Amino acid sequence: MGISRREFIGACLAMGAGVSVGCSSGPRLFQERWYVFGTLVDVTVTSDDAESVRKGMARLAGFFRDAHSNWHAWKPGRLLRVNQAIAQGREIAVDEGIEDLVRGAQLQYQLSEGAFNPAIGRIVGLWGFHDDMLPTGAPPARTLIERWVESAPNPTQVAIHDGNLHSSNPAVQFDFGGYAKGYALDAGMALLKASGVSNAVINAGGDLNAAGHNNARPWRVGVRHPQREGVIAGLEVAGDEAVYTSGNYERFRENNGQRYPHILDPCTGMPADSVASATVVHRSGAAADAAATAFVAAGPGRWSEVAQAMRITQAMLVTKSGSIELTPEMAQRIQLSARHRRRSVVI
Ligand code: ADP
Ligand code: MG
Repeated sequence: MGISRREFIGACLAMGAGVSVGCSSGPRLFQERWYVFGTLVDVTVTSDDAESVRKGMARLAGFFRDAHSNWHAWKPGRLLRVNQAIAQGREIAVDEGIEDLVRGAQLQYQLSEGAFNPAIGRIVGLWGFHDDMLPTGAPPARTLIERWVESAPNPTQVAIHDGNLHSSNPAVQFDFGGYAKGYALDAGMALLKASGVSNAVINAGGDLNAAGHNNARPWRVGVRHPQREGVIAGLEVAGDEAVYTSGNYERFRENNGQRYPHILDPCTGMPADSVASATVVHRSGAAADAAATAFVAAGPGRWSEVAQAMRITQAMLVTKSGSIELTPEMAQRIQLSARHRRRSVVI
C-alpha cells in the first residue's frame, strides 16, 4: 500500500522536528499519534517540562475523542440528533460546543458569500460521502439534485436562543466536515497552552496548527502535491499559525472512470472539480479550514474574490491543469521548486 497524503505530511513534519533532538540538556521532543477526525493526528511538542506535556496530551486526547463523536455529520452523536430535530421541524437544546460551531459556521458562510456552506449535509449525503468508504456508481438523479437546490439551505436559517436551536428551513443539515477539524485544532492548541505547553504542532493529516517554535527554529511543513507523489511547497511557520489544505484528490465518487470530488458547489449541488487543491495560512485553524474548502468550491475564476471577502491574505490554489495561483503574501513566504515557481502566478 502506498503512503497516503496524510501520512506523508505527518512524516515530513516529524523529520523536520527530529533534527533538533539528541542533546541531553534543553527542550526534549515529545510525539503522540491518534486516529481521530477520520485521519491520523500527530502532535509534536518541544518542552523541558515532561509533566506539563503528559497532562496536556491527555487532555487533548480526551477532547479530540469527544469532539469527533459529538460533531460527526453522519454517525450517532449530538450533531446527528440536531440534524434529526431540524428535519422534523423541532427545536432542540444544544451545548456550548455546538452553539459555537454553528455561530462560527454562520460567519464563515456569510464572509465566503455562500461558497462555504456547512448546511449542505443532505446533498453531501446524496452524493454518497456520508460513509467511511468512497462511493461508486452513477451520480444522484438530476431531479433529486434540482429539488435540493430549490430547498436552498444555509446556516443563517438557524437561530439559537437560550441554548435552544431552531431552523426555519427543515432542509438544513449541518455537515462540519470542512470546518470542525480547524475548530477542534484551535481549541486543542488552547488546551495544550493552558497545560503549560507553548511549542507544538498538531497535524491532522496535513491540516495543522502550530504554536511557538521548534528549538529556536521555525517549524517546517510540507504541502503535498495534489496531483502526484511528493511535496509541492514548503513553509516555515513560527508563532501561532495554521496551514490547511482542501483538495479533490482524496475523497471522490468514481463512476466509469469519471471522478466526482467531495467538495460541492452549494449553488448547483454539483462537485467542484476545477481546483486540485487550495492551501490557506491563517492565525485561526477554523477560518483556514473554512476558507480552503470555500476556495475549492468557488473555483479558479472566483476564489480570489472570496479570499478578499473572507479576509484571507495567504493562500495558494492549484488548478486542475496544474497551474499555481498565489496571493502576494503567500508568494513572499512559500518555498516552491524552480519548476513549480515557473508554473505559478501571483494574483
Ligand atoms: P478535508 O476533509 O480533506 O480536510 P475539507 O476541509 O475541504 O477537506 O472538507 C470537505 C468536507 O466539507 C466534505 O467532505 C463535506 O463534508 C463538506 N463540504 C463539501 N462542500 C462544502 C461546501 N461548499 N461548504 C462547506 N462544507 C462543504
Ligand atoms: Mg476545510
